[in-house]
Amino acid sequence: MSKVFITRPMTAEVEARAREIFDVEIRAKTSVMEPSEMCDVLREFDCIVPTLGDLFSAEVLAAAGDIRCKLLANFGVGYNHIDVAAAKAAGIAVTNTPGAVTDATADIAMMLILMSARRASEGERLVRAGAWQGWHPTQLLGQHVGGKRVGILGMGRIGQAIAHRCHYGFGMKISYVARSEKSLPHPATFMNSVVDLAREVDFLVLAVPGGAETRHLINAEILAAMPQHAHLINIARGEVVEEAALIAALQSGQIAGAGLDVYEFEPKIPEALTGLNNVTLLPHLGTAAEEVRSGMGYMALDNVFAHLTGMTLPNLVV
Ligand code: NAP
Repeated sequence: MSKVFITRPMTAEVEARAREIFDVEIRAKTSVMEPSEMCDVLREFDCIVPTLGDLFSAEVLAAAGDIRCKLLANFGVGYNHIDVAAAKAAGIAVTNTPGAVTDATADIAMMLILMSARRASEGERLVRAGAWQGWHPTQLLGQHVGGKRVGILGMGRIGQAIAHRCHYGFGMKISYVARSEKSLPHPATFMNSVVDLAREVDFLVLAVPGGAETRHLINAEILAAMPQHAHLINIARGEVVEEAALIAALQSGQIAGAGLDVYEFEPKIPEALTGLNNVTLLPHLGTAAEEVRSGMGYMALDNVFAHLTGMTLPNLVV
């Protein structure tokens, strides 16, 4: 019988379904897989359900030797931790879980826009520290979000869900950069370059995939182009932002604030960042809702099921 390996504990209903339909082993640890573990499971299992941080690199795939695995059914839409070209060369298909994550991640982007603009984390820290002296007219003044201009880098599923919320929910003006212009149900200005986008925003929101093509798209030059009152929001992948340049821009007041769900060297976050008051820092919460994680799990299992029964893979990446 075909053997399936899942690299992290899943929601109870996804684990129950996996056990019902497959000969499955579910790793009990919540930490990322070590290279030696990845080599072992590549040799022992037909399908693996990996997730964020499980670095299936070309080196790991080469070191594994005699590989039995034919499918990496990633749990998550982002698959930049898998070397898809090396996987393909090794005869391994890669699938992901698009769509299941879209609304939840767009919600977190809105939460970060609001928290950063309205200085919510700073206010909460003040209350928790017992340092709040009471309301007064000029205390913790932030920025109003309604009607402002949001620039969205990446106008795919999540970028469009963010634009929808910004336009219909907050009456915001929208500009964006993507590889191609989109036909959207509301006004939105397509821009040709990230630096031009950065120049005119009140909020710059990142919604591109990670990987070599987008690494450090946000760097010192882009941060310098942003207006001083603007905020950077990252719900994409940490490596899209050159973190040292962001810290410098926040320290010098070159930009007003940042709302981050992801980090360049996740889960390591420099003290220079945690020490700043003008940042909102979330622990990669984008899809962290029970039903969303179950939806992602079912989608990954559907890909495994399709592979094992010879059907077309619903969410093939390569
Ligand atoms: P998607 O539908 O594939 O959209 C990606 C968008 O990025 C597309 O509009 C694409 O342009 C654009 N893009 C790609 N490379 C680009 C480049 N070099 N320059 C400019 N634009 C570029 O993906 P999605 O479902 O929206 O997800 C986006 C990413 O969000 C994922 O890959 C993942 O890393 C991240 N994410 C994070 C969380 C979290 O928990 N924080 C949760 C889910 C996803 P075209 O449309 O023109 O091709």
